[in-house]
Amino acid sequence: MKAQIIDGKAIASQEKAKIRKEAELFNEKYGRQVGLAVIIVGEDPASKIYVSNKIKACEETGIRSFSYRLPESVSDQDVINLIEELNKNEAVDGLLVQVPLPKHLNEQKILSHITVDKDVDGFCATNVGNLLLSRECNKACTPAGIITLIESTGVDICGKRAVVIGRSNTVGKPVALMLLEKNATVTVCHSKSKNLADICKTADILVCAVGKKHIVTADMVKDGAIVIDVGMNRVDGKLYGDVDFDNVSEVASYITPVPGGVGPMTVTMLLNNTVKVAYRGK
Ligand code: NAP
Repeated sequence: MKAQIIDGKAIASQEKAKIRKEAELFNEKYGRQVGLAVIIVGEDPASKIYVSNKIKACEETGIRSFSYRLPESVSDQDVINLIEELNKNEAVDGLLVQVPLPKHLNEQKILSHITVDKDVDGFCATNVGNLLLSRECNKACTPAGIITLIESTGVDICGKRAVVIGRSNTVGKPVALMLLEKNATVTVCHSKSKNLADICKTADILVCAVGKKHIVTADMVKDGAIVIDVGMNRVDGKLYGDVDFDNVSEVASYITPVPGGVGPMTVTMLLNNTVKVAYRGK
């Protein structure tokens, strides 16, 4: 194997150690813990796992977590009332509502009530707009984690040709903007793109966020490229990325595994955003 593995687990744990120090300093200086509130509605098993991972990560980093479990039967207004209350709560620096919400709720309407500063997921229109305008903001967590992973290689993003496959609002578009902010030359591909393989082959940095097992094969990757695999595809109980890891690692210089690459960074960046918000408020 030629490529070096970018160990997301190890990098996440180093980042968490830094976050813990900053959270402890905050507590010493301002006499309270940094706080993250998480609202979960209903009984979706995957959402429950994500929320419990977030709470566990808060414990590891000295961040106080506030968790609110609402029954499936709540109305939009019930959730909005809780959000409004937490918006005013000074012990809460970051606030998130675990998505997807049950179908009868208006997700966009509910999420739009989270105050911009406390939107640590970085999904609200103002945070996304500020990212576009290169202003200080809460940056979406998975894309911010991807940038940290790329930077961990020591390779300078500036001037590199980056190709992002996927244009979702939560991964593809924000990571493309973040790469552009770092002065990469960025191309975004999607399901209607023609000659995907040829475009990918030009990439010094290839980020794949599609959700299709092994859509990126070795013949699509430039020799020496950095390959970041965001995909999480469960097939017959096993987790696969979007990248054909075994063969692509013979061509790339650096590659993220699945699992253990991008995944561990997402919650870490959420905590990072929360601590930053706490300091910004002082
Ligand atoms: P999404 O909203 O479904 O977006 C998928 C994107 O892939 C769309 O832009 C789509 O294009 C594009 N696409 C689909 N088929 C394609 C093809 N054949 N060629 C090129 N592009 C194609 O997914 P997402 O939320 O961005 O997530 C992507 C993957 O990342 C999923 O596997 C998800 O589970 C994973 N993920 C992982 C983490 C993590 O923490 N590790 C976080 C978020 C997501 P169109 O826009 O044209 O439809």
